[in-house]
Amino acid sequence: MNERELLMIPGPVAFDPAVLRALSAPSRSHVSPEFIATFGNVLRQLRQVCLAPSAQPFVVAGSGTLAMEMAVANLVEPGQHALVVNTGYFSDRMGMLLERHGAQVTHLRAPVGDAPTAEQLRAALTERPYAVVTLTHVDTSTGVRAPVKALLEALRGTGVLSIVDGVCATAGEEFRQDDWGADVYLTASQKAVGVPPGLALLTVSPRAIEAWRQRKTPVRSLYADFGEWLPIHEAYAAGRPAYFATPAVNLVCALEVSLGQILAEGMERRFARHREMARAFRAAWAAMGLELVPRSEELAANTLSALRLPEGVDGALLGRIRDEGVVVAGGLHPELKARSFRVGHMNAITPADVLATVGAVERALVRCGMKLEPGVGVAAAQRALLS
Ligand SMILES: *Cc1c(COP(=O)(O)O)cnc(C)c1O
Repeated sequence: MNERELLMIPGPVAFDPAVLRALSAPSRSHVSPEFIATFGNVLRQLRQVCLAPSAQPFVVAGSGTLAMEMAVANLVEPGQHALVVNTGYFSDRMGMLLERHGAQVTHLRAPVGDAPTAEQLRAALTERPYAVVTLTHVDTSTGVRAPVKALLEALRGTGVLSIVDGVCATAGEEFRQDDWGADVYLTASQKAVGVPPGLALLTVSPRAIEAWRQRKTPVRSLYADFGEWLPIHEAYAAGRPAYFATPAVNLVCALEVSLGQILAEGMERRFARHREMARAFRAAWAAMGLELVPRSEELAANTLSALRLPEGVDGALLGRIRDEGVVVAGGLHPELKARSFRVGHMNAITPADVLATVGAVERALVRCGMKLEPGVGVAAAQRALLS
């Protein structure tokens, strides 16, 4: 394996060396004063990154799917109705989790590459007394960014709890949890948050905590139960040791470094940088004749590009791109699996990464037999970066 390969997949992403150094430090006791201070700081930082000053953060060892399951396990009781605003593979997964925890699930689906609108959501809400609605901020299988602000607006005043899957969005796409009124925002460490895989992260509104307190039935998972984790997180936030299950101490130390870098950049600048890098990629894709899976620029995520393979080019393209030094991902959505590929562009992404990636894709397409004027994609990206 070439250690200088550029990793451009939608998670795990390329990580900052300072974050990786934190992982290799000797593990501390999870009840040492130093680690308690780190954990307390991480909880404050996570609130700031999610623009959720009122929220209760949770940092638990596990992947993004655990963060999804924690939200569902705590906020849904058997027999309740749940609505999945479905934009792809990860929305389907949310539906599976809801069913597993006893909810009666309805999907509000859009065609592949599209997203349900706020009007469609308002209409769907009149059909049943939903307890929760789930949204996928960026569905990594389609590259679609749902219009979460407008969708959350449609839920305002209805009393329905909202769960927003931000696994491929948090700390890359604009999201203002308190202002926009989301009850749960959840993510994982390995995408735009910039820490190797292994942490499930959630920020939970006071309203959702209250709904959890009012449950009539116990949470059906011990590990996922807010009731087990809340005292631990409250203790760490107050500078006291506590134990339920051993935290991933090295990952939490790395998270403190990464969240510190994110906040030092500033959320507004970070959102803007992701927008600008994505715009340069989209200019390059258009110039090379590559078609996005999302049906409009408006719906296209800033954290990754999902692209259709051009006529006459097959999945061998991915190997060719890797031969050119860049790793991209294959298709994931069942309807697109063999006919699409995905390029992640989140976290520490720079103009240098954009140009290296576009150049590698361009050379690989030419080597696959596509008629392309060498440099058209790179030139379009340069123009976008300079404008
Ligand atoms: C990656 C991803 C997940 C799943 O996260 P894992 O860490 O792989 O469990 C969930 N939702 C979205 C939108 C994702 O991109």
